This record gives sequence, structure tokens and C-alpha cells, in this order.
Amino acid sequence: MTRRFVLSIDQGTTSSRCIVFDRHARLAGMAQRAHRQHYPRSGWVEQDALEIWRTVEKVVPAALRDAGIEAGDVAAIGIANQRETTVVWDRATGVPVRRAIVWQDVRTEALVERLREMPGAERITALSGLPLATYFAAPRLRWLLDEVDGLRERAERGDVLFGTMESWLIWNLTGGEHVTDVTNAGRTLLMNLATRQWDEELLRFFDIPRAMLPRIEPSTGDFGTARVAAPGVRIGAALGDQHAALFGQTCFAPGETECTYGTGGFLMMNTGPEIVRSRHGLLTTIGYQVGPEPVYALEGPIAVTGSLVQWLRDIVGLIATAPEIETLASTVDDNGGCYLVPAFSGLYAPHWRSDARGLLIGLTSYVTKGHLARTVLEATAWQTRDVVEAMNADAGLRARSLRVAGGMAANNLLMQIIADVLDIPVTRPLVTETVSLGAAYAAGLAVGYWPDLQGLRRNWRAAAQWLPHPDRTRRDEEYAHWQRAVHLSIGWARPADGTRH
Ligand code: ADP
Repeated sequence: MTRRFVLSIDQGTTSSRCIVFDRHARLAGMAQRAHRQHYPRSGWVEQDALEIWRTVEKVVPAALRDAGIEAGDVAAIGIANQRETTVVWDRATGVPVRRAIVWQDVRTEALVERLREMPGAERITALSGLPLATYFAAPRLRWLLDEVDGLRERAERGDVLFGTMESWLIWNLTGGEHVTDVTNAGRTLLMNLATRQWDEELLRFFDIPRAMLPRIEPSTGDFGTARVAAPGVRIGAALGDQHAALFGQTCFAPGETECTYGTGGFLMMNTGPEIVRSRHGLLTTIGYQVGPEPVYALEGPIAVTGSLVQWLRDIVGLIATAPEIETLASTVDDNGGCYLVPAFSGLYAPHWRSDARGLLIGLTSYVTKGHLARTVLEATAWQTRDVVEAMNADAGLRARSLRVAGGMAANNLLMQIIADVLDIPVTRPLVTETVSLGAAYAAGLAVGYWPDLQGLRRNWRAAAQWLPHPDRTRRDEEYAHWQRAVHLSIGWARPADGTRH
């Protein structure tokens, strides 16, 4: 029997999706199911890990049916997942001790403030590559250990287990493998970026019992064999979703850069085999590891990109559907002098200011609805430029082009604006399911379904490309206006207002 397909599971923030790919990276079958979000208090975001597992258990056979194949036709499973979402479950019963705490959850803000004052806090970035922030998993795990009665004792005995989503899914799929990969472990604040193992100093700092932690594997590694959903199929790979996107876009060479534009925007630049420490507000992370050595990356998350378009649609009501923004913005040639900094809950990379708030500036009676629509699209482009400039400065490399995917990448006008603003070509691939494809690629490599990276590169095909307009003068002037607007947005939410997030 030849195993002709590879299957990927993308366990995302709002849904779980399973896609079957063939050897040419063509989509052969797909199934998707959403799960619920719980908001028990302001700033808290939770998900039911058992519900998520049940959706995965259903979408895998559904995708196989959609492709008209059976588990026996599948060479390997690859998993990509929402990162930093924290699950703790009972080793004996498999029942989560609480709902999963989702990556957007900021309940640990006070805890993080306290930890920042502790001796050793200044070493965290050097060891983990990340700033101490609510965004990552370790403070959530620490919060659970402090809050749930008796949990610490059970954790010390190894009776309860910690994992991010891929660990939780693999444990359920295999019936008990407790394992994670370097890209996910690298987002906990507990992994040493150089050794790629749990770091004793970080574990002590966050006071996390080692007995509850999974084993760390490379992104293509030994994750066991599925016993349910696709019985008998080896799990060949696991990666955080944005890392899978980098891999799926075949950004295998230093300097190659991609961005996934969805609700938020996530840029990643391959920086090669050496760790590049950021001095310009980026995260240092493992891009992926498919062999003995990892590829490092710089990452710049942007909190608000597509969600600004949703805001214009649902709250402001200026458009009825997201694609309409392109039509409206095309009624004008420029932004009419307007800039919108969408710091709705502060700014992420490269500014990292939780005290920034949204700002619309440059209004005159000349400004029309069209200008506003254009200003909204430009906000994504200018934020991208902020991150790319930081990447170029940190890496000592220049991004020579940007590969894009995600819901917003459907907007042709926006892609042209990004090319102009960055002054580099922007390319959209034929297969825009880059997260799923990246997980499939890594899994396929693990079992020899695809021979090597070169083979994967050959599968990558551009569907569309936008070249920058040759005149840079106006762009640079406008970028200076944008930078002034960002400056003005910072510091608006003072802690005393009680509006600080
Ligand atoms: P996520 O994976 O984060 O849920 P998606 O990749 O599905 O997001 O992208 C959805 C986002 O893209 C939404 O925020 C939506 O407003 C935005 N979006 C979708 N289509 C367009 C478009 N044609 N122009 C601009 N934004 C769009």
C-alpha cells in the first residue's frame, strides 16, 4: 500500500481545521469545526480543551472522507496550533483541571508586574529570547499553580501535566505521549533558546515543577502514532501556527520574510542558524527545526490588522463586508492626510506599549469616506513597515520581498500599498493555506514523503505579485507622518485612568 497523502491539523484560536494534501501540495480534502470562546471576566479568555479535542477527533475523519481516502493512505500527520494557550490536565483521567487559558488572556498582568521586580527577571530575555509579558505561557501556568487548590502538589508528583495545544492533542491522539516541539516550547518563557531544553533557571524563576512538563522534540520528530481519528498514522511534526506559516511559505533562507494577515498580523524573518538578539523590539524565536540544528527567526506580532477592517464594518458601519473596503478605498488616490493608529489595546511589536490607544489624526473637511477606508488599509501597511525596519536593523539583513497569506491578503489594493510602503515586492502564493501546508511539509519530511527542502521549494508557486512604485519621496514623507502619529498615541492610557490594559 502506498501512502499517497499527508494530513495536517491546524488547531486555531477559533476553529480546528484538517486538510489532506497530495505530493504536489494540492488540497485533496478538508474539514473544519469551530469551538466556543469563554469570557468569564474582563481580560479573561478561555476555551474548553475537551471540546477542542472532540472537534479535532471529528475533523480528521471528515477530511479523510472529503478526500475519499482512508487513514492507511496517509503517510504522516503534521500539527500546527494556536500558540501560548495553556492547558493542564490529569494524567490518569485525561480531564483538564480548568478551562484552557488562551493566548489573548491578560489575567496575569498583576503577576507579571510582580515577577518583573524579582531578582532574575533581567535574565529572562537573554535565556528565552522573549520579554517577560502576559502574552506567553509560563505566567499562565504559574497562575494556575497558585490558584487551583492542591495543583502544585499534584504537579510535583507528575499527576497533572502541562501542555500547549499541540501537546494536548498529541496526548489524546496517541493515548499518552507527552511531548511538545521547539517552536511551541520556545513560546513558554521556560525554554532556553540555545540548548532548546527546559531551563533550570527559568523553571526556578517561575516556580514550575519539571515533572509536569512535556519532552521537547524538534519540529519534525518523534511524536508517536495516532491510535484514534487516523489510527496507525505517525505524527511527524508539530509547530506553532506562525512557524508553520514560515515553513509553508518555504522561507528557508536567511532574510526570507513572510506575514500572515488575519485578525492580527504576524511577520517572521528567517535569520539562519544563529540566534539574533533583538535590540529593536522583536521576539527571537525558533523558526523551525527539521534536522539536528534549528533555524532561528525574528518575529514581529501586530495586534490589530484585519480586526480594524471588522471594526469599520461592525462598529462604524462604513462598509457592509470586509472586501468592500477595497472598493471604497479605490475611490481616492491617497489618504487625504489622515493616519489611524489602531492601538485599541496598546501596541505590540516593535513598540510594546500597553499605554498607547487608538488615534485618528489629520482630519480636515477635505477628508471623505474613501480616505478613511484608505487610512484603515494603510494602518496595516505602516505597522508592517515598523516591524520590517526593526527586522532589517536587528538581523543586519534586508528583507528583499514579503510573502503574504491570511484573509487580508485577498485585498489587492492593500498588497500594492504594502509593496509601496516597504519598497519591496509582495508575493501571494497559489496555496494560501500556509499554516496547514507548513505542518504538512514538516510531517512529510519526517517520513521521507518529500525528500528535502529543495523539493518543497519547487512546490511553491506565486499566484500574484505586486511591485513597489519607483517614486519613494512621497512614501518617506508619509512614513514620517505615521511615525509622528504613533508617537502621539503612546501614553494616552495612564494607569490612573484605570483604562490601561
Ligand atoms: P484569522 O485566522 O485571524 O481568524 P483570517 O485569516 O480568516 O483571520 O482573516 C480574517 C480577517 O481578514 C478579518 O479580520 C477580516 O476583517 C479581514 N479581511 C477579510 N477579507 C478582507 C479584505 N478583502 N480586505 C481587507 N480585510 C479583509
